[in-house]
Amino acid sequence: MKKTIRFVFVLLFCSGLILLVGVGNCGRITREETRKIEKRAEGMIQTLKNYGITDSKVLEAMKKVRRHEFIPLAYRDLRTAYGDHPWNIGHGQTISQPYIVAYMTEKMAPQPGEKILEIGTGSGYQAAILAEMNAIVYSIEIIKPLAEHAKSVLDEHGYNVKVKHGDGYKGWPEHAPFDVIIVTCAPENIPQALIDQLNIGGRMIIPVGAVHSVQSLIIVRKTSEGIRMENDLAVRFVPMVTGEK
Ligand code: SAH
Repeated sequence: MKKTIRFVFVLLFCSGLILLVGVGNCGRITREETRKIEKRAEGMIQTLKNYGITDSKVLEAMKKVRRHEFIPLAYRDLRTAYGDHPWNIGHGQTISQPYIVAYMTEKMAPQPGEKILEIGTGSGYQAAILAEMNAIVYSIEIIKPLAEHAKSVLDEHGYNVKVKHGDGYKGWPEHAPFDVIIVTCAPENIPQALIDQLNIGGRMIIPVGAVHSVQSLIIVRKTSEGIRMENDLAVRFVPMVTGEK
């Protein structure tokens, strides 16, 4: 009888140990997986180069920031996270396609110490790229759980990005003026508040167009003489909506 009790005790102890080791490893990435991720990130960088991205600072930042970690776990798939396409992040929203992130960043050429406002934080990936380039980043997201997710991933990675849950149509007047404004959702017209919050010498990149149609990426430059606008690529972004969720 005593032997049986001792046996059951040893059995319980061992299962406890196995469980502990299992829980300890869960979520941790093995060296093999790290190598695979690095390879996929390198593949993504090669694709960006093939598509004409040349700014070495943008390419370096995009090689360094771990894109898959910005995709919420429920939607994360290591095999596809580095593909050149947008990806579902929940709440009907997507993390932007790497090429678009690279293109918009290259066009805005953020300099270290410049103040940048992003509208549409989404996963936090674009904000991380800007922070990796040593810009001072403010980002607004209208869907609360996305704002919270992005904030926690950015904090976890040590990026000092200020994220606000709110409506980007109003901009962030308390921190204006901004050297750069990057809008990653599409309004039908350029919000006046965003033009007002641009610094003299500042620039903005924004997709503009009707809901569910092809939009035009517009580059706005503010000079002491006034506003200049330039039509750029045809793109497709999620609509810029109003009313915080
Ligand atoms: N930059 C993001 C991609 C965002 S997708 C990334 O790197 O992952 C566009 C985001 O804009 C969505 O999360 C959407 O909720 C948000 N959005 C839409 N309208 C908005 C508004 N008025 N103000 C702030 N964010 C808005």
